[in-house]
This record gives sequence, structure tokens and C-alpha cells, in this order.
Amino acid sequence: MHDHHHDPEDGDLVAPSPKIPVPENVAEAIRTLLRWAGDDPGREGLLDTPQRVARAWKEYCAGYAEDPGHHLSRVFEEVGGYDEIVLLKDIPFQSHCEHHMAPITGKASIAYLPRNHVVGISKLARVLHAFARRLQVQERLTAEVADCIWNHLHPQGVAVVIEAQHGCMTGRGVRTPGVGMVTSRMMGVFREDERSRAEVLKLMGY
Ligand SMILES: [Zn+2]
Repeated sequence: MHDHHHDPEDGDLVAPSPKIPVPENVAEAIRTLLRWAGDDPGREGLLDTPQRVARAWKEYCAGYAEDPGHHLSRVFEEVGGYDEIVLLKDIPFQSHCEHHMAPITGKASIAYLPRNHVVGISKLARVLHAFARRLQVQERLTAEVADCIWNHLHPQGVAVVIEAQHGCMTGRGVRTPGVGMVTSRMMGVFREDERSRAEVLKLMGY
């Protein structure tokens, strides 16, 4: 049975491996891929691999079952006059590129300048993971996180900077380990006002 003990409110950002049943056609698809790659899916070491791979992909893509904006639905209106930048820095994440289904590994810094509403700080990471656990391109991931915060919190500004390495770049033709790609999205004051943008980037360590 599906043991659904991933409480969205707990502090654990890594979902436990759910022992969901794997349909036979999914397992067979992975066996086909193993054959295509040149191996023998019937050999002992690979016997349980299709089930493991299938379940792993359910986790990598768990974001499809999530509404990212839901994490921002519980807001606190009383901010005690706080009108400074709220920043969650260097949040590690993993995603997969939609072109190769290869891992994207990186860190994100997410900031906003509240207007009336603030959220629990861990919610920013939850929004990131809800979008990262899908097939992605880094540019869209960056934009989706920023837009989600913008649309739900109506802040004065949003800044998202994502730095990531792409398995399809480091593991294939172009062997350039350690080379990262940086994308950013600035909205509101962080887009319009140069000093605000400089301030948030400095806080992020850029
Ligand atoms: Zn790729």
C-alpha cells in the first residue's frame, strides 16, 4: 500500500521512497531501455531495477501532483512594520532537464520585499521543490518560482537566482564538470530600482 507519511508541514524536504505498485508496462519500458543500452535486463543485478527506477521517477516528478501556490496560502498579515528583504539563501535542490531527463543539481536564493503579507520562510523552499520536481529547463524553473511568489504574496519585489549544474552538460559530450549555469528573475522594485537590486544580490552573495 501507498504509505503516505510525507507530511507537508514537517521539516523534511526529501520525500521518503513510496512503495507504490509499478505497472507492468512501465517496468517493461525500463527493461526495453536497458536492452537498448546494451545490457541484459534478465541478469540478477538488474532484476529489481525497473521497479526502483519507476519509483525514483515518481519522486523526481512528485511536483506534478502539487499545487506550488498552495504553500503560500497561509500568510501572516501582521508583520510588525517589517519592511525589509526576506531572503532564503542557497537552498539546495534537484530537478531534471526536459531535454535529456538528466539531473539538474543546484542551489537557489529566493527573496521578496513584503507589502502586507509574509509566509513561513520554509514555504519558499517548498515552492521551489514543487516546481523542481518536474521536468524542467532552468530558465522556466526560475521564472515559475518568481511568478508564483509574485502572484500569491503581492510583494513589492521578488528576486530569484538559481545556480545549477546540468548532468547533460557534465556527463556527455561537453565534459565540463563544475561549470554552473546562473539564471535570475527580478520583479517589482528589484527590477525597477538599481539600488534595491544591488542590495538583494549582495545579500545573496553575488
Ligand atoms: Zn539536458
